[in-house]
Amino acid sequence: MKELLLNLRSPFLTFQLEDHYFLFDGGRAVLLEVTSIIYDIANSLPLYQVQSGDHFEFPTHQLLQKYTEEELNTAFQELHSFNQNGLLKYKGRIYEVYNQVYSLPEDQAAPSALWLNISHDCNMRCTYCYAEGGEYHHTKGMMSVETAKTCIDYWFEHANRSSERYDVTFFGGEPLLNQEVLFFAVDYINRLMKQIGGKYSIRLQQTELY
Ligand code: SF4
Repeated sequence: MKELLLNLRSPFLTFQLEDHYFLFDGGRAVLLEVTSIIYDIANSLPLYQVQSGDHFEFPTHQLLQKYTEEELNTAFQELHSFNQNGLLKYKGRIYEVYNQVYSLPEDQAAPSALWLNISHDCNMRCTYCYAEGGEYHHTKGMMSVETAKTCIDYWFEHANRSSERYDVTFFGGEPLLNQEVLFFAVDYINRLMKQIGGKYSIRLQQTELY
């Protein structure tokens, strides 16, 4: 039987099957076979720091003991191209790592994803809720159309124009409790995308669709 080695420290689920290396991107539900260098880079990202957002020094010197600078550069370029195609974007850590080692041109470092927390409320009260029913330890509230437009305008102005596809996520709480802003935002982003001939995908965290 083949030995399967799992590593849960990485922000992506990584595993090795004999001399094949894999990354599972949970955000995209995509399984990638990668080189051993990319596998090692991914495993250099401690999960707890990815979740807390704490700054940490990427251990380039350790990798340089195993790989040449040229090999590392190629691996980071490959990671960058994964990012360009919407993969391995978990918490944006790969971009941060890449920027720590090789600075990117400003237009390539720009975001292609927009997350809008449009509802600080939820119709559910899950006991395990990380967001305290959408309130995030604050008060209930809904994003206004004006605020949504300001956020979208800022994102659109700074978005990475070389991106093949943009990501828009409506988040909460329960985003469908704020249908006014949801419908406004979709209509407004549609019009902006038409201007640049862009494509985008929508993610909606919801329980209220029936
Ligand atoms: S935001 Fe999600 S996890 Fe939290 S109470 Fe609502 S449905 Fe449950």
